[in-house]
Amino acid sequence: MSKIVSLCKRRGFIFQSSEIYGGLKSAYDYGPLGAELKRNIAAEWWRNMVYERENVVGLDASIVMHPQVWQTSGHLAGFSDPLVDCLNCKERFRADKAPRSEPGSTVEYIQGGKAGGAKLKAPVTDKGYICPNCGAPTLSDERQFNLMFRTALGPVDPLAEVARELEGQSLTQSEIREKLEAAVKSSAVYLRPETAQSMFVQFLNVQQSMSMKVPFGIAQIGKSFRNEIVTEHFIFRSCEFEQMEMEFFCEPGTQKEWMDYWRRERMSWYQRYANDGAAFRFRQHEGSELAHYADDCYDIEFLYPWGWGELEGVASRTDYDLGKHAAESGVKLSYFDQNKPSPETGKPGWRYIPYVIEPAAGLTRSLLAFLLDAYTEEQGVDAKGETKTRVLLRLHPRLAPYKAAVLPLVGKDGQPELAMEIVREFRKRGINVSYDEKQSIGKRYARHDEIGTPYCLTIDGESLGDRSVTIRDRDTARQERISIDQALRTVQERLDALS
Ligand code: ATP
Repeated sequence: MSKIVSLCKRRGFIFQSSEIYGGLKSAYDYGPLGAELKRNIAAEWWRNMVYERENVVGLDASIVMHPQVWQTSGHLAGFSDPLVDCLNCKERFRADKAPRSEPGSTVEYIQGGKAGGAKLKAPVTDKGYICPNCGAPTLSDERQFNLMFRTALGPVDPLAEVARELEGQSLTQSEIREKLEAAVKSSAVYLRPETAQSMFVQFLNVQQSMSMKVPFGIAQIGKSFRNEIVTEHFIFRSCEFEQMEMEFFCEPGTQKEWMDYWRRERMSWYQRYANDGAAFRFRQHEGSELAHYADDCYDIEFLYPWGWGELEGVASRTDYDLGKHAAESGVKLSYFDQNKPSPETGKPGWRYIPYVIEPAAGLTRSLLAFLLDAYTEEQGVDAKGETKTRVLLRLHPRLAPYKAAVLPLVGKDGQPELAMEIVREFRKRGINVSYDEKQSIGKRYARHDEIGTPYCLTIDGESLGDRSVTIRDRDTARQERISIDQALRTVQERLDALS
């Protein structure tokens, strides 16, 4: 992991946010190559989920939504409760509802709270309670908090109002808190903690404007924000991140077959772009782990350097979300199928609230997984007979920031001009390539290996005469002499082939 973090900084993939001021905890900036990699992953997801399907359409909703959305979805519920995070399984729970246990007594629990984890023992702290999910006594401090970032909409400063009201009054802490909550309530809005809710609240607009027939899906890629108590493992868990989510609306009773379909589709999507398919697996949620509204859930897990962990969740969310939003808003979020008989009357025409299958992936977390999967060190012997380590990112060409590098051997004698001619040819076809004439050719090959460029095309003295180049393959380091036209075709063909 530390090698990836340092490569990301050295080669312009990911930087610590606001680094010159000491950095902001768990916030990251995607540098020139990271921005390309992220865009490429998002583009491949969108291509697979939207462009290649008749029954899925896209959405790009606003990050700040009506606060009632979060009230209805249940995300706001914890605001005034004393909440605690389990440092072992990450469960967030109310301290006052947690199972009691004698301070100082030893309790047993399973590492990570997941089947197959190591058995651990630890003493119960003075808190006198343990995690209701995994039984661990390793807990964060109690706080009144919510995972959502709260901000205010509108030009009026709610704090000025509070200051006016409190002036000259002697109040208890809880009275002050009450007044503060009341003052901020009217203008409070939240940064979305998931993209999913906008697909539920826009269900009717999308369905009617696009004449969608159930089963159909709404897909979205966008930023989400969670005030995570435990941020960890570089970009694996951060407070600001990006998600790629799809809500697939289907007929009640068909959710199991769609669940099987979507979890397979999603697994094969990852494996298509990865080198090591065995580093991905499914983990079905046990009954006690399932959210109260879900009737099934699978995580797609990746083998990170610290062990298996979530990459994507594929959840069968029943009709819970549409049902709740319909009840709270008074708008019928249902679907009428005129050809299906109603189960109640047996007559044609069935109105129902669709069931939902949700494949919810992390874009930034996928980026980390693809980097980890691609990172390779190879031992070899250089021209002087010395042992050297070659570092390469074996990124799928569709994901790689540059699809090829065009390298004039020397920066004179017409070579840069011919190289730029080739670069322009690629750019005309929408293929992102790098023109690079800095440093020795060996250093340039090493740099492009390290940033995952699948091909290097080298222009030399001969190229000007016979319009040939040396093409070097990143993964094998093999070099071949071919015509410029053939080089253009080779790069294009690798991009067209998905495997
Ligand atoms: P975890 O168990 O890792 O906290 P979660 O179950 O809360 O994840 P979901 O709410 O299902 O996650 O979100 C869907 C996906 O969004 C996750 O599988 C993950 O890829 C991504 N994701 C969630 N929270 C974060 C975060 N704080 N930082 C980066 N990615 C995240």
